[in-house]
Amino acid sequence: MSLLALEGIRKSFGKNVVLHDIDLRVQRGQCVVLIGASGSGKSTLLRCVNLLEVVDDGRITLDGDDITDPRIDADAVRARMGVVFQAYNLFPHLSVIDNITLAPIRVHGVSRAEAEDKALAMLDRVGLRDRAGARPDDLSGGQQQRVAIARALVNDPTLMLLDEVTSALDPELVGEVLDLLRSLTQEGMTMILNTHEMGFARQVADTVCFLDGGVIHEQGPPEQVLGDPRQERTRQFLSRVH
Ligand code: ADP
Ligand code: MG
Repeated sequence: MSLLALEGIRKSFGKNVVLHDIDLRVQRGQCVVLIGASGSGKSTLLRCVNLLEVVDDGRITLDGDDITDPRIDADAVRARMGVVFQAYNLFPHLSVIDNITLAPIRVHGVSRAEAEDKALAMLDRVGLRDRAGARPDDLSGGQQQRVAIARALVNDPTLMLLDEVTSALDPELVGEVLDLLRSLTQEGMTMILNTHEMGFARQVADTVCFLDGGVIHEQGPPEQVLGDPRQERTRQFLSRVH
């Protein structure tokens, strides 16, 4: 059984149909990379999975649970996912460690001692344990994004959703974040990510999905979708981004 399955997902904003009949399966331990031009629906797709948007039609199942069932506890579902966005969204007035422990303590009722132990372990994981007491402003953009990833990992998510997490970074800081994501996939983390970094997509993706106008036009292994695309639209997109 797939860890995550989207079946016939449709989402519109007013008259603008942004996702048309999306079918997507993500197996445990897989990394699915969404590519496509700006406005193609990549972020909306992730937001639907995270229940930040209510789908108009279709079904999303996570580990067999229908999370699009209106009776579902959306907060409980979200707690099973780690989400990282383009802008790091760290609280500037809180230290690095307090940024990470905030939700576990306030939302999940974890004790401060336990939350801090876990946070330090995650900071260790992203190579920033020595910056636990720093303020976000004292860190580089790449370090801030690594803290955001540590924060997303702290709840032991079954699935990570990453929306263009390197887009806001200076080019020289992109590598450290991509290296971290690459090691997470190697450790078996299941993730869906949107990126403009085609080289990275080719390295980490098990499956690449090309979206255009809210439709998945092509999906498959990176060698095929990026290296030998079947669809003319995919070819055109790739020739623009390379
Ligand atoms: P991408 O992430 O691929 O750039 P998005 O999912 O952000 O694409 O956007 C897809 C389309 O949905 C765009 O036309 C965008 O304007 C529209 N859209 C996204 N969010 C909203 C919203 N909250 N309200 C209205 N339109 C939206
Ligand atoms: Mg987007």
